Order: sequence, then C-alpha cells, then structure tokens
Amino acid sequence: MNHAKKADTKDKYAVLERYFGYRSFRRGQEDVVDSLLSGRDALAIMPTGAGKSLCYQVSALLLDGVALVVSPLISLMKDQVNALTAQGVKAAYLNSSLNDAQFDKALRNMANGMYKIVYVAPERLKSSRFIRAATSIRISLIAVDEAHCVSQWGQDFRPSYLNIAEFIAELPQHPTIGAFTATATTEVKQDIVRILGLRDPLEVTTGFDRPNLFFSVIRTSQKSKQLLYLLFSRMNNSGIIYCSTRKTVEKVCALLYDKGFSATRYHAGLSDEERRKNQDDFVYDRKRIMVATNAFGMGIDKSDVRFVIHYNMPKNLESYYQEAGRAGRDGEDSDCILLFGHQDIQTAWYFIDHMEPNPELSDEQNEAFRKKEIERLGHMIAYCKTRECLRAHMLRYFGDSADDRCDKCSNCRSKMKTFDATIESQKILSCIVKTGQRFGARVISDTLRGKINDRVRTLGFDRLSTFGIMENEKKKYINEMIDELERMDYVRYVGAGYPIIKVTDAGWRVLRGEEKVMMIQTDLLRTSAVIQKSK
Ligand code: ADP
Repeated sequence: MNHAKKADTKDKYAVLERYFGYRSFRRGQEDVVDSLLSGRDALAIMPTGAGKSLCYQVSALLLDGVALVVSPLISLMKDQVNALTAQGVKAAYLNSSLNDAQFDKALRNMANGMYKIVYVAPERLKSSRFIRAATSIRISLIAVDEAHCVSQWGQDFRPSYLNIAEFIAELPQHPTIGAFTATATTEVKQDIVRILGLRDPLEVTTGFDRPNLFFSVIRTSQKSKQLLYLLFSRMNNSGIIYCSTRKTVEKVCALLYDKGFSATRYHAGLSDEERRKNQDDFVYDRKRIMVATNAFGMGIDKSDVRFVIHYNMPKNLESYYQEAGRAGRDGEDSDCILLFGHQDIQTAWYFIDHMEPNPELSDEQNEAFRKKEIERLGHMIAYCKTRECLRAHMLRYFGDSADDRCDKCSNCRSKMKTFDATIESQKILSCIVKTGQRFGARVISDTLRGKINDRVRTLGFDRLSTFGIMENEKKKYINEMIDELERMDYVRYVGAGYPIIKVTDAGWRVLRGEEKVMMIQTDLLRTSAVIQKSK
C-alpha cells in the first residue's frame, strides 16, 4: 500500500513552471512523472542531458511526504540542492561532506518534516540513525539516480548500491521507486528491476539519439596538431577535451596555455580546492576549454558545451556516449569528435591488463567482468574504425533502431574517393594464408616487405612466394591496408592482446578473384600505390 496522491494535470504543469520555469515536458518525462504520481514504480532510461532529475523533482513536489534521492555524486547533490533551494524548494543532502553535527541536524530537520527532497549517498542508507529517522516519516518516493550502479554488468558497479534494497526492506511501507539511468543493456536493466525490487515498473525509454550532435572520428597520428587545428576554428565556443590519463591532461593543457587558449584542467591528482575552482571557472565561462580525465563531468550542468573532443579513445562506447553527450544539452548543434590513433588500442589494453580486481567480487565475477570489458573495448575500436554511419553504429549498440545514414556524422559526410585495391589486397591476403593464419600484422608486413630478420628466417618465410612482393612499400602503408581490410571484414583479428589475423569468407572470395576490393583513398593509401609496380 502506498500513500501516493493522484495529482491532476494542472498541478503537474503548475509545478513545472513555478519551480523550473518550463512550460512543457520533454520526451518521456511526463510518463515517468504520471507513473510515480500514481504510485507505480518506474524505470527511466534516458540519455545524459534528457532531464531525468526533473522527473523525480516534479513528482516529489506533488506527493505527500519526503522524497529520498539516492545518488552517488556528491557534487551533483550539492548543486541540485542549491538550485532547488534557490527556487524555494526545501531540500537537503546527506553525504560524507557533512560532519557529525551537520548530519545530525539535517536528520532532525528531515524527521521534523522540514524537507520535501533529501539527497542521500548510498553509504548513508546503512546508518542506524538514518534508518530511524526515515522510518519515522512518510517517504513519498525513492528515486535512484544512476541506477545502473547496482549492477555489476554496468561499468560503474558500486557495491554500496546494494544497500538500497536492504534499506527499503526496513521501511514500514514499500515506497514507490523510480530508477533512472542512461545505460540500457538488457543485463543491466534486468539487474536494476531485480535488485531494487521494482514492482511491475513502467519502463520509459526515450531512445538514445541526440539529433543535435555531430559525431566524427578523426584518424590521426598527430593528435596535438589536429587538436589545435580543431580549436582554432572554434575560437568562441566552450568545450571539453577528454584525455585518458592525468599526464596527457597536463600535456594538452600546457600546450593550450602555450598557444594562448583560455583553458583549465581537471583530474583526480589535483586538490579538492583546485578541482572545484577549475570546474567553476569552466561552468561560469571564466575559462572556455576544460581539459580533463573522465573524473570530470558527472553531474555538471553546463548546457552550452559546444564541443567534446576525445584526445584518446575511451574504454567503451558507454563511457564515450556519456562523455560526448555532455555537448549540446541545450539542444543547439554541437560536435563530438574522437581523435583515434593506433596507440589508443595499446593504451586501452594496458588499462585492462592492469585492472585491479574488485575485492567485493569473487574471482569468477572479476574474470567475467574482465571479459566483458574486453568485449566492450572491441565495440569501441569497431566504432573508431567503421566506415558506416557513426550514429547508426552507436544507436544500434545501445539497442535502438537507426537508419543506415544520418548525414550528421563524419562518415556520412565523407566525400572520400575510392580506388580499386584488389591486387594489393590479394597480395596481403595470400601472405596471411601462406603463413598459416597464425601471425599478427608485424610478421605479415615483414614478410611482404621482404625483411630478413631472425623471426622470418626461423619460420622459413623468406622462401615463400609472397616474400618481398611488396618490398617497395612502407610498413605504415601495409598496416593501413590491413586495417582497411579488417574494417571491410576481409580479415579479422582473433585473440586478445597480440591478436593474429585470419582471412574471412569475404577475404577468400577476393583471393579467388570473385570479389573486387574498393578502398577509400586516404593520404597513405594513394591510388598510385596500387598501380602495379613493374618488377
Ligand atoms: P540528466 O540527468 O538526464 O542527464 P538533467 O536532469 O541534468 O539531465 O537535465 C539536463 C538539462 O535539461 C538541465 O539543464 C535541465 O534544466 C534541462 N531540462 C530538463 N527538463 C526540461 C524541460 N522539460 N524543458 C527544458 N529544459 C529541461
């Protein structure tokens, strides 16, 4: 049983306008609000920036009692509470940033009905003082923000999220629960429903597409040059540059200072004070560019970020879409650009190889998680390499349907010319077959280029007919060719870490002369290079 009050439409819109200044709900918001107001649990899957917080805030204001919002993000709690308070909503937060006296005071106020919305960190749900206070009042709603943290299949599993179900079990009445996330995989969804104990929840998925975002992948080995080039054409706009390590953040930020850009930085190696200052400088437009690791961004509400550039490839598409999605929250056209170089794949592997096991998980669970990370990395790399529509690639990964072309990504807009690369491809494919499909790109390229080294000699590859048939080509060129063949699915990398190359069915058709290979011309893959050399 619950005490949810059915609010009429007028109330809903009145609250929306009075407290938030909006006249209409965005897609999905109203369904979630209606569900929560009628006492039905809801699972809202909406991309970053869609407006999840507004769903539980409006509901909280219309229901009798106090709404608890469970959130892992301390900075977000503070910002949201400040914003709500400024609008005249009685709100507070309970997390580790409060000392004992402040915590007690907030609890007393909560028990005395002084708040309408209380943000609480999941760790606090175990505190007996908190449980006592919570059982003495009417809880209208429990909103679980970043609900995917409950699932070990999600990328941000937080064991403290498991406290939520235990806490709910302590309450005299089962409250209405709203779970909110931007992660939509089936496994994660099932875990959220099961672990949080949602009863017949209304599932609202708004779809992941963000039509105002332009996606591009730029393959480059000269990232800093490329970055400067991109920034010079975006002189008046705010943007974020994500790097995979603190060291790179420092390097890129120094480069931008040096070139006179208005930039600041954010990573876990800086003091709390400096992080806060730099974040504020960016949010309040005192600095135009934020160079940061992925520690930056969760819960930051800056709506006019015009570009998000990834200086390094993130570890998976979930992270990428979440970080890139911080661009254009105001609905205006914005760019999401990923700079991709081969080194990125090695760095990503390094991170996986050096992943600390989670002490709260068993060995098998840790191993399963590792495997999942490897699989996710594979999808991330595929995004960087695909020649198909980037938006379609990403949306399909998240389970949405998508047209084959969006005309708003670098692949759809590319006007690259193609050339007939059948003969060169046959040389490479036959070398892979003749060496037994047991080697990686290095051995294949050494053999094709006729490089005599110990490895090639020991293996006897210097006696193969394919030995030296591309002796005039550079290693880079052959690697690029192999990459293109992989992208076009004529070969496939098999195995983790140092994968070997195998020829696919399509590749065999090329070898048998049944299929032509049309490749896109890049700087490296010049047409002239495939004009057969007279030998
Ligand atoms: P999420 O939590 O889904 O990432 P937020 O709740 O932070 O998204 O909302 C993103 C932005 O959208 C905020 O600036 C918020 O004020 C704005 N917003 C939310 N709902 C609406 C609405 N109905 N109309 C206009 N703007 C909205």
